[in-house]
This record gives sequence, structure tokens and C-alpha cells, in this order.
Amino acid sequence: MHYISNILFAILLVIGIGFFTKNVKKLIRNIKLGKDIDRSDNSSQRWKNMTNVALGQSKMVRRPVAGILHIIVYLGFIIINIEVIEIIIDGLFGTHRVFAFAGGLYNFLIGSFEILAFLVFISVIIFWIRRMIIRIPRFWNKEMTSWPKNDALNILYFEMVLMSLFLIMNAADQNLQLLGADHYIKAGAFPISKHIAGWLPQNIDTLIIIERAAWWIHIIGIFIFLNYLYYSKHLHVLLAFPNTYYANLNPIGKLNNLESVTNEVKMMLDPNADPYAVPEETETDEVPEKFGASDVVDLNWVQLMNAYTCTECGRCTSVCPANQTGKELSPRAIMMKTRDRIEEVGKNIDLNGTFKEDEKSLFTTISNEEIWACTSCNACVEECPVEIDPLSIIVDLRRYLVMEQSSAPQELNMMFTNIENNGAPWQYNQMDRLNWKDE
Ligand code: SF4
Ligand code: SF4
Repeated sequence: MHYISNILFAILLVIGIGFFTKNVKKLIRNIKLGKDIDRSDNSSQRWKNMTNVALGQSKMVRRPVAGILHIIVYLGFIIINIEVIEIIIDGLFGTHRVFAFAGGLYNFLIGSFEILAFLVFISVIIFWIRRMIIRIPRFWNKEMTSWPKNDALNILYFEMVLMSLFLIMNAADQNLQLLGADHYIKAGAFPISKHIAGWLPQNIDTLIIIERAAWWIHIIGIFIFLNYLYYSKHLHVLLAFPNTYYANLNPIGKLNNLESVTNEVKMMLDPNADPYAVPEETETDEVPEKFGASDVVDLNWVQLMNAYTCTECGRCTSVCPANQTGKELSPRAIMMKTRDRIEEVGKNIDLNGTFKEDEKSLFTTISNEEIWACTSCNACVEECPVEIDPLSIIVDLRRYLVMEQSSAPQELNMMFTNIENNGAPWQYNQMDRLNWKDE
């Protein structure tokens, strides 16, 4: 009869892992919608970057309170979940505390997990207070309504519940151990849950119900959390690592050049080039590459991964000079809108087998006002704790507007005309360009 619970657990495991795998495949497919970009260079620097920024969370601690709390929650959550290995083995084979044979080491680990669980619980409560009571402004920008706001809170509640269940499970377990209940071998150290144990009933049957209920809800909660990740900003738990590995290692502020434009400029500067040369005819009907980006498929895959990795922390927006001076632009919103659009394109492909034109683009949700408010200062890039580059997307959108649509703001059009006619951004005569050096 007790095999039923093992079978139920196995079914749960297969469903949980199965959905997660399906979502990971979808995520990879969506990221690959982006154009290719070579980031295979300099692997030792990339490993170092990933270790410092993703694992060591070096950029998180620039804001010490949030940074240290985040490290506690992150490490606590990951380390405590090592116990999931034991839970899975126990669930599949009907054992109980299968790793208890490790003796002192096991006791040490269970004791450490409890302390971490308690610290995570406290940290999460502080996060909640910062968000809901102190109302830190970056959590209340206009893009942080409905789903983004609920998503952030959901995960805090999730963590509170999971940590509580873990401690309640241990509290009931140690009471059962003390009462000599069958199957509940003496194992583990319980520095935190021993304070809860006294509140629980001392009846074996009731304690077994409490322990089993906490055990099952805890593991079901973990499977739900695993599958919730894809729909949440908490995908960064996984993506922060590849995202920091494949981050742009060029000096900050160095923009990439469009190859076609670079070639054209080189040709213009080449004294031996024939200005009247006709381009060679090609046999294929190759469509010329689009300048810049109007939709997610025009961005590269690292930019799309950036969008999925965004933690919606708003640090970028809080340092953005355009946003601080009341402009429409929020670099966080740029990343969120990009992710929404990738999801929209992905769903379109799921539905139709291939992308069916939907007459939408990134410009459907990102306005020209936002794009042109950017000062290209790179503060958002510098501040992002997971090395996201919102500016690169803004630059690509601008390139599209200027080079494909000829729709730059009036001030810029004047500057372009001046450069074209005078070789300088100002309205001086060509001959007067170098007068400044004689001043
Ligand atoms: S680069 Fe643009 S978006 Fe980023 S902080 Fe500066 S102004 Fe804001
Ligand atoms: S781009 Fe970076 S700094 Fe901005 S909200 Fe996303 S994770 Fe935070």
C-alpha cells in the first residue's frame, strides 16, 4: 500500500521535470530567434566575469543592504535545496532521511540548512518591508504594476512558505524521533526548529500527519517554483550565469559598427576606389540586411538573453539621467518590453508553426520619445547587477529609425545636414572649421 505514495511521487517528479524541460526548450528556441553574434573570445576573462558578478554577486553589494540580503536569500535557497536530493530519493524509494548514515556531517548539514532557512525567512520579510512599507521608489515606477508587481511579491511569499514548511517538517520529525515513532530514525540537528517543536502536539499520529503534509507541500512547492521560473523575472536565478559569461567585454561606451556602413566608409576613403563602380551582380535574390532593429529578430541572441535575464530590480532606471529628469525613458521598461515581444513572437510561432506577420514590432510598445531620451551615458549598463546592456537595444532601435525610416528628431536632422555639408555638426562654412585653433 505504501508504494502508492512512491508512485505518486514518481509521477509528480516526471510532470515537474517534464514541464520544466519543455519550458527550457522554449526559452532556448526564443533566444535563438536573435541574430548570431560571436562571443566565444577571451574565455578566461569571461569565466572570471561570471564568477565575480553572477556567483560572487560583486555588483549587487554596491548597495550593501539589498546586496547582502540578496546573497543570503540566494545562497540559502540554493544550499537548502541540496536537501531536495534526499527528499527525491526518500520520495522514490520510501526511505526516510536516507543520508543519515553520514552521522555528524549529516547533523551539521541539517543544522546549517535550518540556520540558512531562518536567515532566508528574515531576509525575505525585510525585502517585503522595503517593497511594501518603505516603498522604495524604484519598485513603484509605472512599469511595475500588475504582473511585474505581483511576480515580485509571489516569489517572496513562496520563499516564506517553503522555508516555514522546511522548519515545521523538521520540528515534527524531531518530536517523532523523541517519541520513538517507527521509521523516524534519530538523525539531524535542529537549532531553529527545536523552538517550534514545543508548539506542536505530542501525539504520534497527529505529528506524522503534520510531518508528511509539510514534506509533500514543500516538495510540490519546489516543483511549482521550478516551473514558475519561466514566467517570472526570477529566471535570472538560472540565466545570470550565461548572461554574465556572454556579456560585452569591450570598454564601456565602445559602440559596435555596422559592417555594411564600415565597408562603405572605407570605400569612400579609399583613393583608389572607383566612385562610379556598379556593385557586382549576385545570382541569389539576397535581401539586403536591415539597418538596426525594429523587432526582436533583428536583435542578437545576447540581447534577447539579456531581456529574459532582467531581474526588474530597477537599479538601471534609478541611475538613468533621462528618467531622473522626468523623461519617458526607463531602461528597465525597455528590457521588459523586449521580453514581452519575444514571448509574443514565440507564441505566434507555437500557434502557426512559423512566424506569421502580426503587424507589430518593438515600436508597438517602445515609443520614439523613450528612444531619443537616452543620453547614451551607459549608467544603466554600469549599474546592472547581471551585466545587461539596455543601451545596445536603444542604439539598434535608433539606427533603424535613422537609416531605414529617416525619422530622426529635427535637431539631429539639422546636425546630419551640417555634417554632410560642412563636415562639422555646426552651421559654419567648411573653410572656417579650423578657425578655433587660431583663437
Ligand atoms: S544609457 Fe540611456 S538608458 Fe542608460 S542610463 Fe544612460 S540615458 Fe538612461
Ligand atoms: S536591466 Fe539590470 S539593472 Fe535594469 S532592471 Fe534589469 S536587471 Fe535590474
